[in-house]
Amino acid sequence: MYAQVIVDVPTMQTNQPYTYLIPEHLADVIEPGMRVIVPFGNGKRRVQGFVIETISAYTGSNELKAIDDVVDLAPVLNTEMLALADWLARKNFAFKISVLQAMLPNVMRAKYVKTVQLLDETAILDSQLLTNFFADRHEVPLDAEHVDVDVLQDLNRMQRKNQVAINYYVGNRAKIKMVSAFKPQLTATEYDKLRHDLRKSAKQQARFLTYLMHAPQQWTAQKEVIDEIGVDYATLKKAEAQGWIERSEIEQYRLPQLTSPVEATQPLTLTAEQNQVYQTLIENLQAHQAQTFLLEGVTGSGKTEVYLQAMAQALAQNQTALMLVPEITLTPQMVRRVKSRFGETVAVLHSALSDGERYDEWRRIERGEAKIVVGARSAIFAPLNNVGLIILDEEHDASYKQEDNPRYHAREVAQWRSDYHQATLLLGSATPALESRAHAQQGQYTLLRLPHRVQEQQLPAVNIIDMRETIKAGGDELFSEDILTAIKQRLDRGEQSVLMLNRRGFANYVNCRDCGYTPTCVNCDLALTMHKVTNSLVCHYCGYHEPLPVQCPQCGSKRIRPFGAGTQKVETELQKYFPQARVLRMDLDTTRKKGATDKMLEAFGQHEADILLGTQMIAKGLDFPDVTLVGVLNADTTLALPDYRAAERTFQLLTQVSGRAGRADKAGEVFVQTYNPEHYAVRFAQKHDYEGFYKYEMQLRRDWQYSPYFYTIQLKILHEAQNEAAKVAFEIADWLKPFLDEKTVMLGPSMGSVARLNNKYVYRIVIKYRQGERLFAALDELMQAGQRLQRQKVTLVIDRDPVNFV
Ligand code: ADP
Ligand code: ZN
Ligand code: ZN
Repeated sequence: MYAQVIVDVPTMQTNQPYTYLIPEHLADVIEPGMRVIVPFGNGKRRVQGFVIETISAYTGSNELKAIDDVVDLAPVLNTEMLALADWLARKNFAFKISVLQAMLPNVMRAKYVKTVQLLDETAILDSQLLTNFFADRHEVPLDAEHVDVDVLQDLNRMQRKNQVAINYYVGNRAKIKMVSAFKPQLTATEYDKLRHDLRKSAKQQARFLTYLMHAPQQWTAQKEVIDEIGVDYATLKKAEAQGWIERSEIEQYRLPQLTSPVEATQPLTLTAEQNQVYQTLIENLQAHQAQTFLLEGVTGSGKTEVYLQAMAQALAQNQTALMLVPEITLTPQMVRRVKSRFGETVAVLHSALSDGERYDEWRRIERGEAKIVVGARSAIFAPLNNVGLIILDEEHDASYKQEDNPRYHAREVAQWRSDYHQATLLLGSATPALESRAHAQQGQYTLLRLPHRVQEQQLPAVNIIDMRETIKAGGDELFSEDILTAIKQRLDRGEQSVLMLNRRGFANYVNCRDCGYTPTCVNCDLALTMHKVTNSLVCHYCGYHEPLPVQCPQCGSKRIRPFGAGTQKVETELQKYFPQARVLRMDLDTTRKKGATDKMLEAFGQHEADILLGTQMIAKGLDFPDVTLVGVLNADTTLALPDYRAAERTFQLLTQVSGRAGRADKAGEVFVQTYNPEHYAVRFAQKHDYEGFYKYEMQLRRDWQYSPYFYTIQLKILHEAQNEAAKVAFEIADWLKPFLDEKTVMLGPSMGSVARLNNKYVYRIVIKYRQGERLFAALDELMQAGQRLQRQKVTLVIDRDPVNFV
């Protein structure tokens, strides 16, 4: 027997599987989807790999190496995942190994350990350096970064003479948590009798027996009981010795915890509109059809309630359900809502979990113990079986696109899995992506609408404030008179406000008022951001930082100052106007600590603050009844993005954040401060007019030949030397040209709008096309050639349907 194995060698990415011999003793063990350890290359190097297929005949002429060992006792990737990986790698020009790894929890990635083994002890006798290095050991971990260069050179020389061997081991970091546990062995009556027969002084034993009388006949972790009823370890030992209980080690899941217990809730009675949507969905669920629905529902229209009830239907049919939400809206509030309906059968997957928690949640899903999964982007790979329903909430959200290797869009994976399982796919948003809405137009998706809020509450009135006028009239750059008045009213009435500033740090960037100079990152050419706490300038892209200049490096002027404001600065200014107001600031800095977001939102919900001031992270998903004012302090930042989706992004953001106001019985009001008050994105958002925006924007996209009329592929070519990056970019462009048909447009190569990233120069080629078969074949070939480019230190990125153009 032979196995086709995709190996995990970072510098040797290829989609070609390698054939290995399956040794006799593993013949009955190895199955596709298992991780194995295989020798690779010369010497004793060992790497992890995935078996994707087993075959009975090998026709090649190479002498085959044998699989060393298996990592798993059962496949960690099932047939579905293997097929999905295959498709996804091809579709997105990704390497299979990176797709396979993306499907599994982090801890299941191999950890490689390199050691040096001393074969000839006499070889080091003369060297004090080497004697110290080995220090009486025969095998020593070799971490090149921490070993003296002289030692490394000696070891190199010795390796050539076979005096030492370099070994590679594959470590397994996936650890199962075991705890001591016990299980009752007798009946309640027997325990009762034992308790009566006890000596009076045996208080602990008496307490334990009382506990055992009512304890469930199952394994229980001993620590919890010791703490709860106040018995010591010796009591348990005695109980075991007398046959009252059995003791053992059991596996314990590390379950992600919420701060307080979740109370069960019952399904709400659906409104007529909700019910219509719901009926359509369950009809499809019952018919087991792979069908995609686009639910366009205004903010507060009760989409989430529809999701929950549709999921209940999937469970009732003995199927499973998967719900994706953007990382930012995957708040404890949301998790609580789902758990309150479905309890223990819910698994949660997101980036704030520890590796152990993630691994355990993954295993609960894989074993079929969790039937509902709520998670962020990568949860789309959750190993659920028999999937009946997949939901993407806020389906337009850019975070569903993975920007690093392997690039994929959760929506396309959802579509694939829906086809595989004949499952219902539900995409929901108040502001669907233009592409999705266009699909509904063409009939690929079924359009469902919830045009009203649940209790017929009005959508909030939106006031546009022209900041150019405010400045001309000598007003404040941050707060116009109108917004200040509105905040004051809320404070007086004891209502709450949400203020959004789409920035971070004390002030966004610094510029010289005399010559216009703006300090930029030495690695990335991006404007540096000022941080007040450390009094420094920081690059948000690569982390580079330098002290804040006191005079302009270009003209020497002292009038080099922050331009624009960040959340900290706004908070300070806000407190000057309203010293008595309780302000909660929510941005990347204040939410970094685990559970911080949870605490803040909980506090805001309890009315412990009057104003929630935050970055775009507060724009989505929050549902607080007492918020009657939403203020957008600067609507313009997203309009200035170098991206054809800038208007769409702005419209979405403004609509989403407006939706936080007036969700319950009190009417809401929104103020939007902008320097572009006539912009159509701002105007349509003011009217909550998604359909109007859609039609207008589609016209523009058609005129400019953008998505969804044309597909795009972006190639990025990165190299440390600018001329090398340019040269390769032009070579690639020339090579590709014959594969483009006449309707296809190639833009560039041009220097990226951020010329350098992490010390590498970036060149971009953008290809706009309608038919791509020949192009894809060419790109596939190009990707396989990436191996050669890598040796030239050129990084090639092929990004299908990019969502960012930097
Ligand atoms: P969306 O997800 O569309 O923004 P939500 O599902 O968060 O809307 O619903 C908004 C509010 O209305 C929530 O507080 C929710 O509990 C409530 N709600 C939803 N459906 C109903 C219903 N059928 N009856 C009463 N309240 C509802
Ligand atoms: Zn200057
Ligand atoms: Zn940088």
